[in-house]
Amino acid sequence: MKSVIAAASMLALLAAAPACAQSAMIAGTVTKVDESAGKITLKHGPIKKFDMDEGMSMVFRAGDPATTIATRGGAVTGVHTESGEVIAAKIVVAGCHVEAALGLLGPALPARLARRRGEIQLGNGIGMIVRLGTSALPHYPAGGPDTHRAMQLLAPSRQLLRAAYGEFLAGRPPTRPAALAMTFSAFDPTIAPPGHHNVSVWGQWHPYELSTGEQWVDIGKREADRLIGEVEAAAPGFASSVEHVHVQHPVEIERELALPRANVMHVNMDLASMFGMRPLPELAGYQVPGVAGLYLASAGMHPGGGVFGASGRTAAGVALADHSGRPAWAGRRRATRITGLGRVPRRR
Ligand SMILES: Cc1cc2nc3c(=O)[nH]c(=O)nc-3n(C[C@H](O)[C@H](O)[C@H](O)COP(=O)(O)OP(=O)(O)OC[C@H]3O[C@@H](n4cnc5c(N)ncnc54)[C@H](O)[C@@H]3O)c2cc1C
Repeated sequence: MKSVIAAASMLALLAAAPACAQSAMIAGTVTKVDESAGKITLKHGPIKKFDMDEGMSMVFRAGDPATTIATRGGAVTGVHTESGEVIAAKIVVAGCHVEAALGLLGPALPARLARRRGEIQLGNGIGMIVRLGTSALPHYPAGGPDTHRAMQLLAPSRQLLRAAYGEFLAGRPPTRPAALAMTFSAFDPTIAPPGHHNVSVWGQWHPYELSTGEQWVDIGKREADRLIGEVEAAAPGFASSVEHVHVQHPVEIERELALPRANVMHVNMDLASMFGMRPLPELAGYQVPGVAGLYLASAGMHPGGGVFGASGRTAAGVALADHSGRPAWAGRRRATRITGLGRVPRRR
């Protein structure tokens, strides 16, 4: 009984989060879709929290990855893309995995960094996720009216968490994974057909490299069933509502999301890889020594992974400071325009 009450209070606490996120949403309109060029133009309104008093239009290009970060004389000159386009730029902010960014430099990667690159702590995976199409939301006897607006952590005891982590360290998938159910169609009905839902179940901890001699391609479905079983244990009847299953096991996460060793935080989130050590001491300043104009903005930089954009914000601050002559740590000022970057917040 104690564990059920603990789970219920965790659900109640988490329920507040989506409401806060919604109040900060900015209105935007897709003004143009150029299918042949793979471009989408989006116009958004003012963003007060970034001191942007006016909106701006942005063009996004899909499906044309960068293949090279071009350099000359130790400074970036732009980016080459798969379609053959050459985009000239004095500043390149790499939002991809730090490993990918270093790889895009090719022979321009300074020799010392090329030697140190393998020391970035990529870890051994974190978890896996199963995406479900269902005919109903999970019904938790211990839940409340707002339960489905929250992320539902279904860990019945600390012992279970410790056991799952112990198995991970030993290179085995957990006998009883800690499951986190997410029910986005409960508050956005447009993402599922009427009368149906999508439920994602993230599970921890699942090693990317297994010590059991098994392959993820063979055991992914079995481990997905264990995750569905954990939701079933907390919400009896859920398993029979499942209509479609898409499994993203660690090897699939690496392939589909370009995340080396299935580390969804890009680089280990432990003390040895945080602060001035993330991802390596020489890269912790969000720049690549010897390659002027290149900034690293992804989760591989401090403060790391999660959907909160802090690494990117800090990298942008460093880039702006370099190119405006003002230190990144100084106070805020009204937005200003920097050629090629659009209207952006500036620091002084
Ligand atoms: C299944 C799953 C569940 C998660 N759950 C949570 C959660 O509940 N809460 C939470 O806070 N975080 C969660 N995370 C982690 C979070 O999503 C990441 O930490 C975060 O997205 C990292 O953001 P990022 O922009 O740095 O990198 P990413 O989101 O990894 O984006 C990097 C982008 O770079 C692109 N890219 C790579 N190479 C190139 C190239 N050559 N040219 C152009 N683009 C390229 C990739 O396609 C990708 O779109 C989860 C992640 C996964 C995968």
